[in-house]
Amino acid sequence: MKTINTAIEGKRCSAVTLLDTMSALGDLGWEAYPAEGWEEISVMDERNTPMRSYQVCNVMEANQNNWLRTRHIPRDGAQRVYIEIKFTLRDCNSLPGVPGTCKETFNMYYYESNNANLWFIKESQYIKIDTIAADESFTQTDVGDRVMKLNTEVRDISNLSKKGFYLAFQDVGACIALVSLRVFYKKCPLAVLNLAQFPDTVTGGDSALVEVRGSCVNDSEEFEAPRMYCSGDGGWLVPIGRCVCKPGFEENKDYCQHQNYTVLKTKAHMMTVEGLKPGTTYVFRVRARTDGGYGSYGGEIELETSHEDMLAIGDPNQSTILAVSIAGGIVLLIFLVACFVVSGRHCGYIKAKQDPDEEKMQFQNGRVKLPGSRTYIHPHTYEDPNQAVRDFAKEIDASNIRIERVIGAGEFGEVCSGRLKLPSKREIYVAIKSLKAGYSEKQRRDFLSEASIMGQFDHPNIIRLEGVVTRCKPVMIITEYMENGSLDTFLKKHDGQFTVIQLVGMMRGIASGMKYLSDMSYVHRDLAARNILVNSNLVCKVSDFGLSRVLEDDPEAAYTTRGGKIPIRWTAPEAIAYRKFTSASDVWSYGIVMWEVISYGERPYWEMSNQDVIKAIDEGYRLPAPMDCPVVLHQLMLDCWEKTRSERPKFGQIVNTLDKLIRNPNSLKELANSSVWEDPTTPEFSVSTVDEWLDAISMGQYKDNFSSAGYVSLDSILYISLCELSKMGVTLVGHQKKIVSAVQSLHAQGTHVQV
Ligand code: AMP
Repeated sequence: MKTINTAIEGKRCSAVTLLDTMSALGDLGWEAYPAEGWEEISVMDERNTPMRSYQVCNVMEANQNNWLRTRHIPRDGAQRVYIEIKFTLRDCNSLPGVPGTCKETFNMYYYESNNANLWFIKESQYIKIDTIAADESFTQTDVGDRVMKLNTEVRDISNLSKKGFYLAFQDVGACIALVSLRVFYKKCPLAVLNLAQFPDTVTGGDSALVEVRGSCVNDSEEFEAPRMYCSGDGGWLVPIGRCVCKPGFEENKDYCQHQNYTVLKTKAHMMTVEGLKPGTTYVFRVRARTDGGYGSYGGEIELETSHEDMLAIGDPNQSTILAVSIAGGIVLLIFLVACFVVSGRHCGYIKAKQDPDEEKMQFQNGRVKLPGSRTYIHPHTYEDPNQAVRDFAKEIDASNIRIERVIGAGEFGEVCSGRLKLPSKREIYVAIKSLKAGYSEKQRRDFLSEASIMGQFDHPNIIRLEGVVTRCKPVMIITEYMENGSLDTFLKKHDGQFTVIQLVGMMRGIASGMKYLSDMSYVHRDLAARNILVNSNLVCKVSDFGLSRVLEDDPEAAYTTRGGKIPIRWTAPEAIAYRKFTSASDVWSYGIVMWEVISYGERPYWEMSNQDVIKAIDEGYRLPAPMDCPVVLHQLMLDCWEKTRSERPKFGQIVNTLDKLIRNPNSLKELANSSVWEDPTTPEFSVSTVDEWLDAISMGQYKDNFSSAGYVSLDSILYISLCELSKMGVTLVGHQKKIVSAVQSLHAQGTHVQV
């Protein structure tokens, strides 16, 4: 599978050249023997610059064995190097009177050595890299034209361990000009992600991933050990962990910057802040320190001291007191650090008539979110749901938001993308959900409930709430912008384009977000690829937290006999049967999401009806492994689909399992022997036409391509090749693979097929 460029945007491969004959000024000084074989010549390139190259053309005599050997090429620490050769090769048929011994290929070898001055290497000591032939276009289309065409071929050698190596070219009777040779290796370039810096890293040998630990940028510290993997082709994959800014610093793109702040510490769940000015807005940020170190900061909490206090106290020097309580059962907590920033802003409204006690109550209710071992607070536990919004979501002034374009439709109105520029913060891209006009009070509450839930979370795999606009219309929820939209659509669009490690990286992210939610005792109930969002770095984040969500919003949700509305295909049997929604039922849904990811957005249980799905699951049927699915991943899915919920793995275990697989990609090599024929709707699979077959493998869109190309009977497709598929217009690599693999199943399962 090839890696697409969205791997880690802007952080892809850089190449380091070890040798480039194009830039050599004098003789290359390579060894050529016998003397009448390869000869060094100067040729002009298209810009009339002289270039050194070698040629040989002893096509009239048989038994040629001409060797050309480079100087020692130091490998510079690289385990895998790439060799790019440009050459022309004469077509034997275009040379008049040549004997049948004329060749159209040559061989390339290497020999590893610590000695840079070897004057002789025995032929038998070389290791063959490949036989090199001119590309198809030369041999197929240029035969009649006798055109000499420049060919470019790239090969690589892996697992190098000595100081350097020699390359050799063996001619056995062809007419070749070796125009240029470039030897290089690939590096994953220096990258900063999640406040961690990853050094530029030489790629590993073979297809091995190199695990790289990131170091936190200045003024930040580890939240979860930052790691990334440098892939064999020089791209960074699977970012894990992150750093967070130290107290008093705030994140600004790739670094942490200072503020005007004061740090306060407490071991208690409540803190009284003294010495504040009346009628002034203060911004608090809170984070926990446990045995495991500092957590990350929660969102900003703006509190204002009242003018009333100032009047009541009478003495402007008398200080005002705020009491801030900290939510959650914090067992591990050793002490809290609260940063507060004097914003200097005087509030736009005066709570002149407010009872001082009421004022204090408001602050005591001002629950502050803490990372780590916290419990999610359901907005319904608030008597006044608006208070939940105030506690967990920051009010944003609408003038700070610029709406740019519509990107989707939500239950309550449009979803747009745009920019948010808060004072003294950098501008960021955001998604803006707005509540359509004419809403009822209940709809407003339900709409904003998503913000009061989302605002309690702070995790790299959970969609981040930036704030809400509630003081003017339309009411809006502002979240971070996820460039690649929802995961199901994204996967369908990029069918077959990711490496299995990238897919596992996506699953790992989702599992990590779900672990965080389950640790907070939050049950999602509607975990599905359509409710995961993907950013430009391929980071997947769990979204969709509204209270009415499962009941109203999800088009997949269907009414059950007990009246509730449930997305049947994604939901555990006990949740369907008696609404037992738990983190273990979320684990079941997670298994379905894994299946969606590996199958690039295929619909779980295909076109089976909801009733048939419920029945099949009850009878023990489970989704088969999708095409190209590693056995270990399918096993993990099956574990998530254990009937007894206590036997399903916990999200923490799932994260650990996926981490192990990422560290040891060989474990992903064994593929499950599944086939599309395991669809339980067609236990005795039989198709009799190409159209039926294409429908059965969900490739029905190519019926016309097949019939126009003359593939009208099933036996005619048994030997179809990738090349023919491209020619007939099946250009997506994933679709080509799916079709070829289904053809192989046709071979294997010939007895079921009525040809
Ligand atoms: P929702 O109402 O949350 O289901 O959102 C509807 C659609 O809007 C989603 O399916 C996405 O395509 C898009 N969307 C929602 N939130 C975001 C976001 N933060 N970034 C990008 N697209 C989003």
